[in-house]
Amino acid sequence: MQENKNRKYKKTGAVKPENKKKTGAVKPANKKPANNKSTTKSVDKKPTNRSPRNNACPYQKKCGGCDYIGIPYGKQLQMKQERIEKLLLPITRQSRVKVQPIVGADHPEYYRNKVHSVFAGAKGNRILRGIYEKNSHRVVDIKGCKLEDRTADAIIEEIRNLMPSFRMKPYDEDHGVGFLRHVLVRVASSGIMVVLVTGELTFPGKNNFVKALRKKFPEIETIIQNINNKQTSMVLGERNIILYGKGFVVDDRLGLSFRISPSAFFQINTEQTVKLYDLALQEAGLTGKETVLDAYCGTGTIGMFMASHAKQVVGVELNREATRDAYNNAKANRVKNIRFVNQDATEYLEYLASLRRESRRNVNRHEASGEKDVITSFDVLCMDPPRTGSTPRFIKAVATLQIPKVVYISCGPDTLARDLMVFTKLGYKVDRITPVDMFPQTEHVETVVLLSRKAD
Ligand code: SAH
Repeated sequence: MQENKNRKYKKTGAVKPENKKKTGAVKPANKKPANNKSTTKSVDKKPTNRSPRNNACPYQKKCGGCDYIGIPYGKQLQMKQERIEKLLLPITRQSRVKVQPIVGADHPEYYRNKVHSVFAGAKGNRILRGIYEKNSHRVVDIKGCKLEDRTADAIIEEIRNLMPSFRMKPYDEDHGVGFLRHVLVRVASSGIMVVLVTGELTFPGKNNFVKALRKKFPEIETIIQNINNKQTSMVLGERNIILYGKGFVVDDRLGLSFRISPSAFFQINTEQTVKLYDLALQEAGLTGKETVLDAYCGTGTIGMFMASHAKQVVGVELNREATRDAYNNAKANRVKNIRFVNQDATEYLEYLASLRRESRRNVNRHEASGEKDVITSFDVLCMDPPRTGSTPRFIKAVATLQIPKVVYISCGPDTLARDLMVFTKLGYKVDRITPVDMFPQTEHVETVVLLSRKAD
């Protein structure tokens, strides 16, 4: 569909995002609570009672990904609960609410469905595979990380074992020579995807390699060679060659099917994601009649999850590739009552707020400008911003649009506290706060907050 250049916003969804280019680039997933959220460091103090560590992980010092490893899981949950209670104290006092008990994980180990290993050579033809040491490009050899899916880890280990007999050399970053650079494994409900990131295109003996790997791991559904010969900290290059299978896996644990290609975003803790989305849906209290705004919607998962309980959903997302994936996911799942807008969420909401103000002044203005299909009235806002949080301008626009109910999903407790203050100053009250442990063994904590607009 043609884009109206005079419009301040870009519309997709019912309209397809126009940019067909796929970057296929993901940053090293180096033990962060990997999703595509921003990684601004938390500013409040880390909890101090983290010892003794019981040698829970031999890589702890060099890796540094798991701040809480070695602490009994119940205690970890308590620490996260207390952190949220402390940070949100001004809010809970003002709104007279208590923080609900944190939603813990049934499986606090081996939960990462996306596992990345960097490969490098060492003395005596040894092959290292693991992660980059904190703040460096030295590779720490890691086998059996406590967060990562165990089959994924075993597959990567088998690749290391197979390499010498296939004369596959690990890539040498300093000199830009060698073959295997990274391995990325993604575990979905349909099966497992293995991505071999190579510095060269030529892959001698690839058919036999694929055969050998599949023989040991029949659950592998697809194997992809990704070429990355650039000097870059990105894991994936632009070119994918399918060596086996379809080139993607499918996850349908949310009652919807999501196609996961090598670079696609997908929450890394599937079990906890289901709990998080269920909670968000419950808080939204949908009856089938509501118009929902899904802000910072990523690949549209939450919005699509809510769509079957709502009249219609509008998703807004800044990242072009994510918006395109959202559109394709909706299409593949035949979710017809959702549309996506590829724009900065603040700009888009301000645009809607300005339309709303104008339409109050002149009821016919919409029709006159051909913008009658733009939805400006929402019953529920579901927002899931990156760790940097939202903006006062966004929140002000939410108030102007008079959206009665807000479900705020946050992965950054500090920015959540800041944003909730703005909401309360603009006429909203906090009704419920529920922390969710999406990333056990780490200090990260997700929080779902229900807000409602006080009567005018
Ligand atoms: N709700 C999604 C993912 C949320 S991650 C899910 O659960 O799958 C946060 C998303 O916000 C990312 O996709 C990121 O690209 C997007 N984002 C970051 N800044 C934004 C902005 N200014 N406007 C709109 N989207 C933004």
